[in-house]
Formats: sequence, C-alpha cells, structure tokens
Amino acid sequence: TNERIHNFNAGPAALPPEVLRQAASELENFNGTGMSIMEHSHRGESYESVHYETIETVKRLLGISDAYDVLLLQGGASLQFAMLPYNLLSPSRKANYILTGSWSEKAKKEADHLGETYSGASGKEDHYKRIPDFETIDTTVDDAYIHLTSNNTIYGTAWQDFSRLSEWEAPVVADMSSDLFSRPLPVENFDLIYAGAQKNIGPSGVTLVIISKTLLEKTKTIAREVPAIMRYHTHAEKASLYNTPPTFAVYMMRNTLRWIEANGGLQAMEARNREKAGRLYDAIDESDGFYRGHAHPSSRSNMNVTFTLPSEELTEQFLEDAKEREFSGLNGHRSVGGCRASIYNAVSLESCEALRDFMVSFQKKHR
Ligand code: PMP
Repeated sequence: TNERIHNFNAGPAALPPEVLRQAASELENFNGTGMSIMEHSHRGESYESVHYETIETVKRLLGISDAYDVLLLQGGASLQFAMLPYNLLSPSRKANYILTGSWSEKAKKEADHLGETYSGASGKEDHYKRIPDFETIDTTVDDAYIHLTSNNTIYGTAWQDFSRLSEWEAPVVADMSSDLFSRPLPVENFDLIYAGAQKNIGPSGVTLVIISKTLLEKTKTIAREVPAIMRYHTHAEKASLYNTPPTFAVYMMRNTLRWIEANGGLQAMEARNREKAGRLYDAIDESDGFYRGHAHPSSRSNMNVTFTLPSEELTEQFLEDAKEREFSGLNGHRSVGGCRASIYNAVSLESCEALRDFMVSFQKKHR
C-alpha cells in the first residue's frame, strides 16, 4: 500500500506523520549544515542543540523542577530493570516491587540477581485485571525503593491516581514506558521515572530517566562496586554525553516532544487519549458480552485496550479481517493472546473510530 494504515502496534508504535515528514525533509541536509543529523559529531553544536532542547522540552512539558536530572540513556527499560538495583539496592535493604503485570515481574527478577526483594502487593492471582487499592499495598520506611509500573502494556491496566504516593517514605520508582507523556503527572511524587521512547515519544533506542538529585546523591553511598557505564551519576555528571548517545533517536524524540507541545501539551494529550480509548471501551461495553475487556473498568488503560472474543476461532477471524482492512498490530501479546489495540499519542481519533466501526460490524456478522 502507498497509504499510511491504522497502526495499533504496542511499541515501536505509530509516530506523528508531521514528525516523520520533518525527518524526511531534512534527512540529507540538517539545518543547512550539508549533512544529516546522523552524520554530525555528538560533540558538535548541531547535535548538542538537539540534545539540550530535548532535555529542556521534557522538563517543560512535565513541569520538572531543578531538583531533578533528566537523562537520555540507551538499553531500553530492560536495562533500567538492572541499573536500578545496581545503583539503589544496598545489601542491608529490600526493594519493594508492586506487581501489576509481566513487566513488573521482569523488573523484580533483575533485582533478585543483585539483592533482596519482596512484593508489597500483587495482582497476579487476579490475572492482573486491576491495580491494587492503595490501602492494601504494604510498604516500609526501610524499603530500598518502591517500584511500580504505571501502565501495564500487556494487560491493559493503568494506575489512575498518583496523589497518595507522597505518603510513602521510601524512594518511589516507576516504569512509565507505555504512558509517560500521555497525561499530566505529579513528578514530585516520584524519585525516579524511566521509559523507553518507543511508545509515546519517539523511536526505540533512547531511554528517558528522570531522577531526583537527592536520590542521585544516595546512589554515591551504595555499598557495591558499580561499573561506570551503569552508574546514574556518570551520565548525570556528563549531561548524558558520557559516551555516544543514540543521536538520531534523540532527534526524533525532540521532534515528537515538539509535536506534543504544539498540540496542547499533556492536558490535551490526556483529553484526546481519553476520548480515543472511550470509543473502544464503549464498543466493548455495548457488545452484550461479545467483546470482553481484560481490565477491570476501574483500572482501564487509555493506552492499551485489551479484549477477547467468544472463541479462538472468532479471535482469529477478527484479526484476519482486521488485517484486510488495514488495521495493524491488533493481536494481543503472545503471553496472553486475545486482542490489544495500542493507542498511544500519535494514534488518531479517526483510527480509533474506524476500529470501533469495524468491531461493531464484525459483531453484527458473527453474533
Ligand atoms: N516496561 C514496560 C511497561 C513495557 O511496556 C516494555 C516494553 N513493551 C518494557 C518495560 C521493556 O522495554 P524495552 O523493550 O525498552 O526494554
């Protein structure tokens, strides 16, 4: 096809067409410099201006104060699963992992290689259908840190409210890979936030870390040898230019952040994402049980809408028909099956309405 299709991929995922067009238009000659941004030195003026603008735009969009450092790293959220306990899990303490899906389990497993962990709450027995109620989560002041996953990409659940996290006394760490920049966020209630860019803010290859300076100081006192490349401090001291950054990915992230800002910032993203998700959840709720949402309504994600059909055969038929209509990426994660529509910032309301219409007509044909 020569046309862009409806892209519901879970990540890497849809990027705004304007961002892609800008990259195409300056691919060979960036800003009249006679070379691509990919061909510039990371120590030169051209790249440095992209680098620092990216960091400044992150701060502006999220309202981040000078009490935090913003780092642009590599290795994805998966490297953060390891970097976190390396830097923060001292031998005398335990890290507290709130389990809300497979990614939180993976994060905990990495920490288990390095020290002791426990889980102050787990939604596993309930098939990760909901986020645990705040009152039921065990934490102690001695936790090395408390780790949560704000949006569970595979199960389609999300934390709805972060306002009470300030009641926790230990450092609060969040994997926000699949919802950072999709809604406003009280950054001050967290000590460390990390996210791969490939869902809401760019292509894969760059990983954003937001870390409080207080926590950064604490990492200096950890009783463990940490390789330089794995230390948050190394990267903070060198403004994320300790080694060669993923320059093209950062450039794409800068352009995507500019797009978010030009389109009204995080409040506007949230309103639009709510409306988009609402179209799909309405189709599920009005289907008389033909479509069943995986997430409990109180924990529904506005980023990943997960649902099943009455049988395996119908699911297969649904995915096949969807493909024919140029809907891409609707199969659920291989570990849970079913269907999943990932509708990050760059997925349009029109795409969501087209999918809703398709769901309604598929049901009519097969009920
Ligand atoms: N955490 C969450 C919530 C995710 O959705 C993903 C990727 N889908 C990861 C971690 C792993 O990220 P990466 O592939 O960037 O390591």
